[in-house]
Amino acid sequence: MLSPLGLTPSFGFGDRLGLATPGHITAVKGTGLAPIFAQQSVRENARTGRTPKQVMDDAKRAVEAAKWDTPWGADADHLKTIDDLPPFVAAGYTFFTVDPGAHVDNAADADSVSVLQAKAAGQNWDELSALYLSANGEAGFGKFDSESLLRALVKYGRAIQHTVGMYRRLSELKDAFDFEVSVDETDAPTTPLEHYFIANELTRAGVKFTSLAPRFIGRFEKGVDYIGDLAALDKEMAQHAAVTAHFGAYKLSLHSGSDKFSVYPLIVKHWGSRLHVKTAGTSYLEALRTLAMTEPVLFEQIWALGLKCYDTDRATYHVSAEPALVSAGLPLPALLDDFHAREILHVTFGSALTQFGVEIKSALVKHSNVYNANLQRHFGKHLDLLK
Ligand SMILES: [Zn+2]
Repeated sequence: MLSPLGLTPSFGFGDRLGLATPGHITAVKGTGLAPIFAQQSVRENARTGRTPKQVMDDAKRAVEAAKWDTPWGADADHLKTIDDLPPFVAAGYTFFTVDPGAHVDNAADADSVSVLQAKAAGQNWDELSALYLSANGEAGFGKFDSESLLRALVKYGRAIQHTVGMYRRLSELKDAFDFEVSVDETDAPTTPLEHYFIANELTRAGVKFTSLAPRFIGRFEKGVDYIGDLAALDKEMAQHAAVTAHFGAYKLSLHSGSDKFSVYPLIVKHWGSRLHVKTAGTSYLEALRTLAMTEPVLFEQIWALGLKCYDTDRATYHVSAEPALVSAGLPLPALLDDFHAREILHVTFGSALTQFGVEIKSALVKHSNVYNANLQRHFGKHLDLLK
């Protein structure tokens, strides 16, 4: 049944086409992870031309057909304004991800103390300094001095206020829900101490959040494995886990979580079962793999369009692919395993669906057995590492 998932370990299966849930269900069955079968951001809805209700209806249809009878969730992802809430509430979503990134002051990392002081005027500095600077220090994630606290206040103060406003509005619209706070798309990583500040301020304001998504160090690009120093990430994941253990009331959430096979053992080691992972475009890449196997002419058209639109479409994503670096002469479907090709195809989905949406969907319906098998294999690789 559709319901909030609370602190159960969970996994989000974003599905841009509305045809992947049968494969997701087969993959997640028996893993002990609670699934989110509907998960779409406002940005993705704009690019796929789908409404929150359509995304929900597609997931529900597949859930009913498979007779899935344990809890599953629906994630209204990366909501930025109060006005984003009502259509997702009306469609019955159960998990609300609020992204206050537009209110994060990224310049605070480099501002001088006098600039920070000017920016903090009118905020509750006296209260915060009494609260945070007198503490003896928290185990495992450090302690503020007055400059680092001032920096955290300027960087995140308004974002926290915005999140509180979103939470209060949602509480007026809905009784029970999962609430996630995501700062994963900010310019700089969230330090464990900043994570503590955000979580503590939200808690003090009465926000009951189920998960929090910091931005971690290194690069979590779309549809490919982690790029960065795994040993440094290992230490950092331990510190973030120490912050969540301090509160004991929410999960850590990993966004852009698909294909991060080298990171999963670290999050299991440090976060235990207090985890949520989000994936989205990787299911679209498995759809394209299916086309490459069954409808190569259509696939070649999508690939040519992707190469043409990449420079424009990549703008709002964290990707580093270069069309010139795609391995030459790869046969289909091996192209779908090339780092550069994956990112190019991943971020040009809006253009592909605008031009070939009807053909793509009807081909996937026709070859649904191949698509389901590809999804089951690909997500099996993910979920095996999280069990
Ligand atoms: Zn995110």
